[in-house]
Amino acid sequence: MKQPNVYTQAGLFDTAPQVVNVPTKRKQRTRQQTTNDVLTWSYGGGTQSIALALLVVSGKLPKPDITVFCDTSFEASETWEYNNQYIVPLLSSVGITIEIASHDLATVDLYGKNGDLLEPAYTQEGKLPTFCSAEWKKRVFRRYLRLQGVKSCVTWLGMSTDELDRVKPSDVEWQQYVWPLVFDVPMSRTECVQLVRNAGLPPPPKSSCYICPHRRNAQWQRLKMYYPQDFQKAVTHDRMIRERDKLHSVYLHESRQPLDQVDFTQAETPVLFGEENGGCQSGYCFV
Ligand code: SF4
Repeated sequence: MKQPNVYTQAGLFDTAPQVVNVPTKRKQRTRQQTTNDVLTWSYGGGTQSIALALLVVSGKLPKPDITVFCDTSFEASETWEYNNQYIVPLLSSVGITIEIASHDLATVDLYGKNGDLLEPAYTQEGKLPTFCSAEWKKRVFRRYLRLQGVKSCVTWLGMSTDELDRVKPSDVEWQQYVWPLVFDVPMSRTECVQLVRNAGLPPPPKSSCYICPHRRNAQWQRLKMYYPQDFQKAVTHDRMIRERDKLHSVYLHESRQPLDQVDFTQAETPVLFGEENGGCQSGYCFV
């Protein structure tokens, strides 16, 4: 029987769309073309991942073979609580387990081998690059898959249609990225929130580390009000990175004030389009 033709996402990256033969069996699993066998999901624990979980459970998306959440060891309690209460049982009902990749799989912690702080803290000159996302999420995800014996795979990343600037091809040959919320079931972040509400679930949390400098004032305020233990740990962390780096005054908050002195009700720098996540491009955080 002649196999159906399916266009790949190659057209996104300024190369001619490729037409490939896709086994019928594969086509039933996802409309996105893949030539690899293992379907993996980088589960982020936030709004888009929760929307993806609902789409999987309702049969609108296929079931991934491996679903992995990379624990940075700084994960906000709200993310754990919400996911443990609602999403773990939901996915379990269709036979999916969220596997946790430990932070032990990261080869660096807070500082790189050259001593650089890996998180995007604010300095007097600007903001440090976001290296943590690649080190604590992307590379840990890949190492975890390798340990499971995965040689070649397709990976779902949870970006939504309003995050096209974050849609970038994988930088390794053995792992191909796909974005179900951009191509298969196109949805914006707002639509994801609505899907979650329509399912009768509480508003989903925005997933990020409690120490993340990309947090906006509303998120800091929420952390301080509802998760004071996380907030206190962030305050301690903020102080610690400054004490360690006496050369550059580094801060978690853009006001360059110690976190426990910041008034989170004050106006902050407006967010530019595409900068909602502080410009973090990895695709493994905030989904
Ligand atoms: S949430 Fe923020 S601090 Fe945590 S890994 Fe991602 S960018 Fe880094």
